[in-house]
Amino acid sequence: MRKISIAIDGHSSTGKSTLARQLAKSLGYVYIDSGAMYRAVTLFALRNGLMNDSLDRDGLVSRLGELELGFRLNEENGRSEIQLNGENVEKEIRTIEVSGHVSEVAAVPEVREKLVRLQREMGADRGVVMDGRDIGTVVLPDAELKLFMTAAPEIRAARRYKELLGRGEEVSYQEVLSNVRHRDHLDSNREVSPLKQAADAILFDNSDMGLSEQYERVLSLAKRVVENKK
Ligand code: C5P
Repeated sequence: MRKISIAIDGHSSTGKSTLARQLAKSLGYVYIDSGAMYRAVTLFALRNGLMNDSLDRDGLVSRLGELELGFRLNEENGRSEIQLNGENVEKEIRTIEVSGHVSEVAAVPEVREKLVRLQREMGADRGVVMDGRDIGTVVLPDAELKLFMTAAPEIRAARRYKELLGRGEEVSYQEVLSNVRHRDHLDSNREVSPLKQAADAILFDNSDMGLSEQYERVLSLAKRVVENKK
């Protein structure tokens, strides 16, 4: 059976990663979390003193060559997890601190150039579900199935807040909501590859939709596209 590429873009905390991971599992495809790559570069900047009041762009760009990024399967949970220079940083990249700076890092053209190149290599053989902000528009413009996910900011913030509390992070709902709004703004207004729905992407607003109902709908859609490709 011929394999397809699936691009899932949209706003933060719309359940993109969960959906992409489930889809990849059902179809036997590889899942690539492109946001984890931008988060790992942000962690690198934080750890190396390149993020003070604002990002030291030139400093980061001059050190991009030192950055090796990839994914490795964690045998314990069956998930592929982000590796930064050989270190598993899956947990470290999910903090509110990284979330607070990632959109600034993701707006640097040289960072995007490097990560888009890597993402295209990862998706070259198809059989991939990739989620992010510019997958359907820039990284995999010829993906056979493109989805664009959104939901009301308050609903997304409530989901992310619950997730962070569950992980023991001390944050307030207001802090999470303002992070969600701030990232929406930066992601949608940056000059290079801003977040926008691809012309051929299907829009899903899951403000009032259960995530399992959404999953069923997307899975049957994906199966139809795979059938048509045979
Ligand atoms: O998907 P996630 O919320 O983890 O992504 C973190 C941030 O990385 C986004 O808010 C965005 O600034 C950036 N990003 C991006 N392009 C992608 C994926 C993520 O600019 N393809």
